[in-house]
Amino acid sequence: MKTTDKEMTNKRVLITGAAGFLGSHLCDFFIEKGAYVIGMDNLITGDLNNIAHLFPLANFEFHRHDVTTFVHVAGTLDYVLHFASPASPIDYLKIPIETLKVGALGTHNLLGLAKEKGARILVASTSEVYGDPLLHPQTEDYNGNVSPVGPRGVYDEAKRFMESMTMAYHRFHGLETRIVRIFNTYGSRMRLNDGRVVPAFMGQALRGEDLTVFGDGSQTRSFCYITDQIEGIYKLLLSDCVAPVNIGNPHETTILEFAQEIIALTGTQQKIVFKPLPQDDPLQRKPDIGKAKAVLGWEPKISRAVGLAAVYDYFKSLPPAELAAKAHRDFK
Ligand code: UDP
Repeated sequence: MKTTDKEMTNKRVLITGAAGFLGSHLCDFFIEKGAYVIGMDNLITGDLNNIAHLFPLANFEFHRHDVTTFVHVAGTLDYVLHFASPASPIDYLKIPIETLKVGALGTHNLLGLAKEKGARILVASTSEVYGDPLLHPQTEDYNGNVSPVGPRGVYDEAKRFMESMTMAYHRFHGLETRIVRIFNTYGSRMRLNDGRVVPAFMGQALRGEDLTVFGDGSQTRSFCYITDQIEGIYKLLLSDCVAPVNIGNPHETTILEFAQEIIALTGTQQKIVFKPLPQDDPLQRKPDIGKAKAVLGWEPKISRAVGLAAVYDYFKSLPPAELAAKAHRDFK
């Protein structure tokens, strides 16, 4: 059912990273709201299959473009949402330079474009700006514990630079800016081979492989379902909140408990095997969403049991060839 929103009718929205997991769901959401969506992606980690259903629409267009080079969009723009970036440890270890460039140079280009068009820009930051946090749960005023030279540094520092640059454009140029700090989010269209734990465990269960828990599994994460995440981002975009806002689900679990949950959900007969913990893997992560609640009136609605069941149904429903392609498609 179409839920056209007066706020978005005929608004022109540029979404970078449009063919990715979050970007493609954002495209769907803004199309539903009645906006004209311009999707942009260089397709390094994105997948056109995620947005193929939008190509026939009159209010969607797609540009294959790398935002680290000058970004040109004809006509007016009301909103820019910068979501282009590799976003999993495996990806940014494979393409570290691209990861740094899209967070730094890409953000600079999009801020320049937003300024030129008089558009409001929302940039996708991350809980990774908190690094391996010494404060738990993480509030927005915590400045983090990040190693600039560790393997995750290319992502963490690019996103920290993104935040600084965005605030500089706001303060110096008076640009309307919003910064969302996204915590672990899951949903349909995630790649099965990008190493993130939700698709990793689901893919393993579907293929009848053992579930690989890194370390002893005592590290914690808090998983947010995609529809909750998108709703939070939208509320932030329309708010007047310039300072960063955490959007995530504060319901925390250890990775070992999470593996057991996936085993119970999928009924797999396989067991849990332990692998070495990757370097700089944060020990704990849980958003403090007090600010999102107070300022945006937002909190997640979908429990992990409901969200995971929906994602498992999605992966199960994929034709075997597509499932295999999702597990093996490489980007370089
Ligand atoms: N993880 C795991 N097994 C896997 C993939 C990931 O135990 O097959 C762990 C990983 O070490 C981390 C957690 O799951 O502690 C979440 O990993 P993910 O890559 O999804 O996100 P991030 O570490 O960026 O929060």
